[in-house]
Amino acid sequence: MSAKTSFPISFSLANTHVYVHQEVIAAFQQARQKKFENERFGVIIGSKNKDDECYWIEHLTKPHPGDQSSFTSFTLEDPAHQAIVNQKFIESEGHLAYLGTWHTHPEQFPEPSSVDRRDWRSCLARNGDRQLFFCIVGTGEFRFFKMHGGRFNRMRMTHHF
Ligand SMILES: [Zn+2]
Repeated sequence: MSAKTSFPISFSLANTHVYVHQEVIAAFQQARQKKFENERFGVIIGSKNKDDECYWIEHLTKPHPGDQSSFTSFTLEDPAHQAIVNQKFIESEGHLAYLGTWHTHPEQFPEPSSVDRRDWRSCLARNGDRQLFFCIVGTGEFRFFKMHGGRFNRMRMTHHF
């Protein structure tokens, strides 16, 4: 199995590269928000190379009944998200961990709102020991953002075919 076929899209910023598994891409495409639907969201789970800043996103969580969501916002409240992260961590003997969050926007080319940026800053504050990535799934494309130089920057997408 070639990594390039299982992870057909990557996002880069400076020396950091995030590779996204095809099943995660399919889940993002399926989650695209239609008019008048509530936002969809969850956490992203993956691994990191030991010797460089390459990350491999392999799983995500989806909305659970205990979460709150509306057309323009969401809150990850259901304990299922953390339970799934813990289960993946144990199953993978510590390789798979929480790498950030994803959520949908009802716009073609999604940009983070001020609420998103505030939420992402609090995610970073709670996880000071690692890099985190934040995905917004728009109706046209999905985009990854990461903190770089004190603000959130969009990562550059590359296809591998
Ligand atoms: Zn948002």
